[in-house]
Amino acid sequence: MKAIIGANLIDGTGSPVLSDSAVLIHGDRIEAVGPRSAATLPPDVEILDATGMTLLPGLIDCHDHLASQDYRLESRWGLNEPTSLGHLRTAKALEETLAAGYTCVRDAGGLDIGFKQAIDEGLYSGPRLMLAVAIVSPTGGLADRVSGSGHQNLQHSDPRIPSGVADGPEAVRAKVREMVRVGADVIKFATTGGASSRPGHGPKDIEFGPDEVKALVEESKALGRRTMCHAVGGPGLRMAIAQGAGSVEHGCYLAEDPDLLKMMAGNGTFLVPTFEVYEFHSTVSAPHMIERASSLMRIHQESLHLALEAGVKVVAGTDAGGFVHGDNAREVELLVERGMSPMQAIQAATGWAAECVDLDKDIGTVTAGKLADLLVIDGDPLRDIAVLRDREKIQLVMKGGEAFINHLPSAVPQPVA
Ligand SMILES: [Zn+2]
Repeated sequence: MKAIIGANLIDGTGSPVLSDSAVLIHGDRIEAVGPRSAATLPPDVEILDATGMTLLPGLIDCHDHLASQDYRLESRWGLNEPTSLGHLRTAKALEETLAAGYTCVRDAGGLDIGFKQAIDEGLYSGPRLMLAVAIVSPTGGLADRVSGSGHQNLQHSDPRIPSGVADGPEAVRAKVREMVRVGADVIKFATTGGASSRPGHGPKDIEFGPDEVKALVEESKALGRRTMCHAVGGPGLRMAIAQGAGSVEHGCYLAEDPDLLKMMAGNGTFLVPTFEVYEFHSTVSAPHMIERASSLMRIHQESLHLALEAGVKVVAGTDAGGFVHGDNAREVELLVERGMSPMQAIQAATGWAAECVDLDKDIGTVTAGKLADLLVIDGDPLRDIAVLRDREKIQLVMKGGEAFINHLPSAVPQPVA
């Protein structure tokens, strides 16, 4: 048994802060949560003293690419390095992300199941993973990796990460089955281009037709998988929402048609705005990417405001992989900078995020019965959200009751009167 005592608890449900709390942990789960004054601590309990600090659920990134390092073609295609070196970079990214307080990540493509198996086996440290494995798109879409010279990416010969290209409803159904076979927990697909897609195929250009998306969503549901859809704007964005995608990734141009947000609120579709990647694209990417990202910044912020007004659940996803790993909480800070309250932004990376990644039965809030995925920060993120990014302030990162980082002093149990 372990107990974290004295912290100001932000439980991830949006409830007000519980000051001077006690959280009891038995094995990998939370046994009890409440005010310290009302807690009964068993005599053999290991006490972690977090007095005056903030305790919150381990953070969740709903959109990451842990196996990607940057956007250069040679890096994306693995042309310059041995595969083993690439895998070790990925392992480092997993560890860095956990060290940043992220105990769960939904990987939106590029990470194969071996990394998840290594973490589950205890071979290596990293966040809890929900995998897309690869993105599904039609020929010419986001998953169709052809260079400007027309060359194909030979990496597709890796059977653990099959090509995501499929055309026509039947092929799309088969592709969903194939993704599930290689270990996909969620089916990621694309209905528009994006900031980083090839020149000539932009954020408002459509991929797939309604019959293909209908088949994809149906087949995913039949196999017990949610869907996440890369959709930035234009008719492809409307199609993704109308056909029942589980979450809209990016959704920058939602404000152009407020009707879409009503549909999303009605269907319980999550929005993952990924501001962090656009901040990156608008400053340091290739010229055509900088232009696209810069032009959508203002409407993207307006989309966030309208989504919140419409009652759409907005969740935090970084789209890391093209830029640095381990600064995932920059997205939470950006959500606040763009108009969410600090409490909303924390929910976006905890309670709501767990619902989005379909793990809310087990994680996302500090609630008795859930897994003990916890984070202790020496600071108050409600007053200064940036403290979540400050590694010096992270005092505890716990996943399933096991501390990965622990700088908390242990206290002596009070004798029972
Ligand atoms: Zn992505």
